[in-house]
Amino acid sequence: MVEDYNTLLERVYKNIPRHETVSDRFELPDIEVLTQGNKTIVRNFGDVCGVMRREPLLVSKFLSKELAVPSSIDDKRLIFNGKVDQRLLVSKIQEFLNKYVRCKVCGRYDTHFESVDRNVRMLVCEVCGARSPVRL
Ligand SMILES: [Zn+2]
Repeated sequence: MVEDYNTLLERVYKNIPRHETVSDRFELPDIEVLTQGNKTIVRNFGDVCGVMRREPLLVSKFLSKELAVPSSIDDKRLIFNGKVDQRLLVSKIQEFLNKYVRCKVCGRYDTHFESVDRNVRMLVCEVCGARSPVRL
């Protein structure tokens, strides 16, 4: 009765609600930092922003403000015009995640921004559908 078994199996699988694989933990890539003279370079800044799904410019502005060090984006790298402690940098990126990526309601990181106006965006959660305004 192989056929019946397969049919049964198929039916069982169909009835299992399919969960998207979302994790409430967020894995940031290791931040690759390089010091060159008086400059601090984040070599994989593009990747980090890609994983967070946020515009590099937005992330760089936040970091520059928080660390009080001016920065510029060069292709996929972020260049700080000054010395930046790597651990402090990582903690500031975590802060960015908590403020601008993590859903305020369910705590997941599968979110995106919708523009409201120049200074306000809506953090839209793709897991629970919550919308929370965030000030930039
Ligand atoms: Zn949510």
